[in-house]
Amino acid sequence: MNAKTQKLVHADKKYIWHPFTQMLDWLEADPVIIESGDGFYLIDTEGNRYIDGVSSLWCNVHGHRVPKIDQAIRNQLDKISHSTLLGLGQTKSIELAEKLIKILPQGLEKVFYSDAGATSVEIAIKMAYQYYRNRGEKSKKKFIALTESYHGDTIGSVSVGGIQTFHRIFGELLFQAEFAPSPHQYRFDGDDDQCRQFSLDKIEEILRNQSENIAAVIAEPLVQGAAGIIVHPAGFLAGLRELTRKYGVLLIADEVATGFGRTGKMFACQHEDVSPDIICLAKGITGGYLPLAATITTTEIFDSFLGEISEMKTFFHGHTYTGNALACAAAIANLELFEENKVIESLPPKIRLIDEYLKRIENLPNVGNVRQKGLMAGIEIVKDKITRESFSYEKTIGAKLCSAMRLKGAMMRPLSDVIVLMPPVAIDLTTLKNLLDIVVETIENDLPEIIKNA
Ligand SMILES: *Cc1c(COP(=O)(O)O)cnc(C)c1O
Repeated sequence: MNAKTQKLVHADKKYIWHPFTQMLDWLEADPVIIESGDGFYLIDTEGNRYIDGVSSLWCNVHGHRVPKIDQAIRNQLDKISHSTLLGLGQTKSIELAEKLIKILPQGLEKVFYSDAGATSVEIAIKMAYQYYRNRGEKSKKKFIALTESYHGDTIGSVSVGGIQTFHRIFGELLFQAEFAPSPHQYRFDGDDDQCRQFSLDKIEEILRNQSENIAAVIAEPLVQGAAGIIVHPAGFLAGLRELTRKYGVLLIADEVATGFGRTGKMFACQHEDVSPDIICLAKGITGGYLPLAATITTTEIFDSFLGEISEMKTFFHGHTYTGNALACAAAIANLELFEENKVIESLPPKIRLIDEYLKRIENLPNVGNVRQKGLMAGIEIVKDKITRESFSYEKTIGAKLCSAMRLKGAMMRPLSDVIVLMPPVAIDLTTLKNLLDIVVETIENDLPEIIKNA
């Protein structure tokens, strides 16, 4: 470790509390400190280069130091970095909203900005809740969510999240939601059709019994990311849309992870021609540059908030940095790059390449399941391939595998024992192949040893 790194590591350990990190482990480890980026690579203070294999936590799209996005931010710096949207308009937020509406599923027409995926979900929840209050349907105040779903870490978004660990710890602080089983084929005894139908039936059961109390169903369309890249059986989202229409409840699609090309189309909803009542966007919206989020809804929902001041129909929600101009400028450049570089059109060969590599390892003894939708893939490592039994949590097999990949030049981060592959959407085929070589070879060659020593 060079002197500069030593100094930084010392200061990091002294001053910083890292998210989702057992700091006792961190304090004992030799952390990597990233100093710069170059295209699809991250560069640390020792000069090591790593392929950004999880898109800097699922948000990077076109790589790092992309000239067009850099320039858009510089240009905006020369005008203004931030002014409030509370009672004022701002050029870039208008321009971006117009662009978003053009590419979103039809019917989504009103953009409410915020700054994180979690806030975009909070806003969706409050919007759906108040929509029914504004209409005088005050009993409709509950939400249906899927088990193992993830919608962010604020109290409202954890309330509709289905990850048990968080519910165990913060349970008393959360509002109560109804949970239906996620259609998780690998953990379901039956085929794709039965798995989809089982979940839809459970949701319908809840709706049949208490739709008059339900405001909305919230789901991550097609892929439940944080749950370990659970890929839903085809038709589940369309089925959900049908049920929500039939029983008169709203559908909230959380596309924070799936949006902006990740699943092979611009938005996951477009795979099944679904237009939700509310959509949540964040992560990739600025190409992974700056914190920005948007909750977009229909004119019908928007109109229910119109009224005299005294009617109290105003949407009482906002954040200081709502619609930040620098972030909006980056987001506009992000969308322009999608068009200029035909990013969506360039995805099929990359998706096929990932599929070929996954096929190579799916028969290995400790590879329980490989799952993929577009550029989102998960490789689930298990103790027993037949019974699907997992390794105990403390063995941290996934983390150890990712450490081994890091030594070979791929920056990865697992979800328990699911190795997550989520390269930047615009990654070139050569770099993607290098990334896949590292990931697959580590699983082929290093996994047996890691298991033996765990
Ligand atoms: C990451 C994520 C969130 C939370 O976004 P933050 O910007 O981290 O608050 C919400 N929903 C989904 C589906 C996510 O993957």
